[in-house]
Formats: sequence, C-alpha cells, structure tokens
Amino acid sequence: MNTDVRVAVVGGGIVGASVLYWLAKMGWGDAILLERRELTSGSTWHAAGNTTYFGPYPAMTRLFAGSIRTYLQAENDSGHSISFHQTGGLRLAATMRELEFFHLYKERYDELDIPFYIRSPAETKQLNPLIDTSRIFGAAHTPTDGHVDPTGATNALAKAARILGAQVERFRPVDALYQNKDHWVLETEKGNISAQNVVIAASFWARELMAPLGLNLPLFATQHHELITEEIPRIKEMDRNLPAMRDSYVSCSVRQEGNGLLAGIYESEPEFWSLEGIPKDFKEELLPPNIDRLASHLERLCERMPAFAEAGIKLVNNGPMCWTPDGLPMLGPMPNQNGLWMASGFNVGIGTGGGAGEFLAHWMIQGQPLFDLSSVHADRFGNDMTTEYALNSIRKVYARGYQLPNSI
Ligand SMILES: Cc1cc2nc3c(=O)[nH]c(=O)nc-3n(C[C@H](O)[C@H](O)[C@H](O)COP(=O)(O)OP(=O)(O)OC[C@H]3O[C@@H](n4cnc5c(N)ncnc54)[C@H](O)[C@@H]3O)c2cc1C
Repeated sequence: MNTDVRVAVVGGGIVGASVLYWLAKMGWGDAILLERRELTSGSTWHAAGNTTYFGPYPAMTRLFAGSIRTYLQAENDSGHSISFHQTGGLRLAATMRELEFFHLYKERYDELDIPFYIRSPAETKQLNPLIDTSRIFGAAHTPTDGHVDPTGATNALAKAARILGAQVERFRPVDALYQNKDHWVLETEKGNISAQNVVIAASFWARELMAPLGLNLPLFATQHHELITEEIPRIKEMDRNLPAMRDSYVSCSVRQEGNGLLAGIYESEPEFWSLEGIPKDFKEELLPPNIDRLASHLERLCERMPAFAEAGIKLVNNGPMCWTPDGLPMLGPMPNQNGLWMASGFNVGIGTGGGAGEFLAHWMIQGQPLFDLSSVHADRFGNDMTTEYALNSIRKVYARGYQLPNSI
C-alpha cells in the first residue's frame, strides 16, 4: 500500500467515494480513501436514495444533473449496479406563487437539456393517480430523474476508482491531521499517511476532526425520519412506477418503494442529534423514532395522498443528517490551509454527491471549479459563528423543508 499520496480523502460515504472516483477518472489515481468503518456507514446507508433534478437554487441544479450522470457512469465503469429507477418526479405547486416560480425555472432546465414540464392538476393526477390534486395549482414534472440504491452507488464509485488506480481503506479512522511543511500527515492506528492534498468528506464528524486545526465548522446533525408503508393494492395493480411527489404543503417527499410508499418528512420542529459530540462507538445505527413530532405533517400527507392513510406503516427509519446554517454543502478549499479541501455538510448528498465529486475534482486538478457556484464555497461562514446562531439557522432552514427560498 502506498502511504505517500497526492490526495487522501477522509470519509467513505457517497460524497467521499464520488470525489475519489472523479479524481481517479481525471488522472489523479494516486489517491487513497480512508473510512473509519464500512463504506456508507454514516448517513448514506439509510438514505432513501432520491436523486431529483428539481431544486430551487439555479447553480445547484448542475450538481443534481451531474449526480445521476456520475452514478450511471460509475455503474458502467465498475459493472456494479446502482439500481437506478427512472420514475420521474412531480413537485407540486401548493400555491399560485410556486407555480409562477416553476415557470421561471423552465429556462434553466432547457439550458441543461433536462426535460422539465409544467403540468396542470389534471395531468398531474394522470401521472400519479394517488395524489389528491383538488387543491394544487399544478406541478413541475422532471420525468428523467428518480432514485438509486445509495449503497450500490457508493460501491460502484469506489470500485470504479479502484480500477483506475485509487486505494480504498476501510476500518481505518483518521485520528488527527496536521500540516508538515508542504504536505499533510494523517494519523491512523495502522500508521500515518502523507498527502499533498486532503479532502474532508466526513459529514457531521468533520466539525470535531477539524477543531484542533482552529477551524470552527458549523456542521451539525439533525434527526430525519422516513416512513415505509405496507403494500398498497392500487400500486401493486399498476403496470408502471409512480413518479415521486414533493410538496411544500406537507413538507415531504413520497416515492414508490416496492408496492408501497416511502415518505421523508421535514418537520417544523427539528431535533438535533449528539450536539455534545458524536459517540466514538457510533456504528451503522438508526436513532429511536419519534412519530409524535411528525403528526401534523402526516395528517396533511393523508389529505394529499389518501392511499397513505389506508396503508399500515411497516418501517420507520430515523437517521442523522448533516446540516450547515444555510442548508447547502461546504465544497472547496479552506483558506490559509494549503491543500485542505472540504466536501462535507450534505443533506441531499445522494442527489448532489455525484455532481459534487465532479465539481471538486475539477477545482483541485484544473485550479478552478467546473462552474460558478459560490453559494457552496467552504469559506462562506467565516470562523467565528457561535453554536447558538448556527443551530438557530439550521432549525429554520430545516423547517422550511420544501418551501422555495425566494417564495417565502
Ligand atoms: C432517513 C434519511 C433519508 C435520506 N434520504 C435522502 C435521499 O433520498 N436523497 C438524498 O439526496 N439524501 C438523503 N438523505 C441524506 C443523505 O443520506 C446524506 O446527505 C448523504 O448520505 C451524505 O453523504 P456523505 O458522504 O456526506 O456523509 P456520510 O454518508 O455520513 O459519510 C461520511 C463518512 O465519513 C466517515 N468518517 C467520519 N469521520 C471519519 C474519520 N475521522 N476517519 C475516517 N472516516 C471518517 C464516516 O464513518 C462516514 O462513513 C437522507 C438522510 C436520512 C437521515
């Protein structure tokens, strides 16, 4: 094993694997990924895998678009399935104002060659007959997105990176890192690694890992629930997959899972997890569910999609999800830390991780990012944000859920 590398990536979730893959694909195969446990053992393994093209931030759409493309490319390069289900998605317009914004978004999707249609309530009903469309104004329809298996996609990226010469070391936590002249030293129990560049793709662990360097990263974990229903006979009888539904009224996304439904809820009173420090022995674990906090959202969901009320809940997953104060990831170089790059803070890391790897690898190798996306630059929060301010901001941005940022 080579312990003197051009790049060391810390963290083997979907984001770290994507960065490693893109670096190797662009010629920097002299790279190693270090993961404290098994690949995907953070938030990635329990994610719903939704990879939508819909998003209110114009530049972020390119990360969404790049992600599905990246996963399919890695599947092709590695022969490892990512289980992409191209169901399409419907983002409902709960208000007239939302519909007006959808019309404004259309041009952006045309520029990226992504099919994007505005559907009437009747057309929406035809596409997904489970939705009660009587009180919506229409929907934005992105027919070519869907969902992937997050574990399959991460393994495809890692395998493809390995084929291109990169190394993947599992069960090798990085205990500390420091700069020594022109390179970084990463300390691990199995020996040190020397690297010219380090990419921190360690999600909510990054805050503690970076603190000894004097960096105050506003990265915290909220709890996030997804619910999976029993089989629904109407879905079983259908000869096609239903497009996913996203809705600001309920503040949730719902997609087909087998012959049932899978709903991810952004509740109005989010709860944080492990603010006092991530437990050292945290494994591939879920957190105790708290359905009471979701009650008002579930009532609305049953209004919007009555079939959800008819089905029993088979499974509730509550997992930690990483947040920054504005809800966007931290991507790019850290100021005054030559060769230290961030790729952390992802709350839709399956939807954006593939594109984020492409974006960052271009920046590292070619000296400039693939496109202008200053809203994700890693230095935008400065170093002095108080924990209280960061948590209050995260509370607000999480609770906003599917609200459009410029429609509130
Ligand atoms: C219930 C639920 C459903 C979700 N559904 C979706 C969805 O449908 N679509 C979507 O886009 N997103 C979804 N998400 C969010 C998604 O899971 C995350 O955004 C994504 O997994 C983040 O990936 P990551 O690689 O940044 O982090 P992680 O997957 O958490 O990976 C970070 C890795 O770093 C490793 N690590 C940490 N510290 C060290 C160290 N010192 N040394 C070595 N390794 C280290 C960890 O072990 C971990 O494996 C969901 C989240 C939850 C909780």
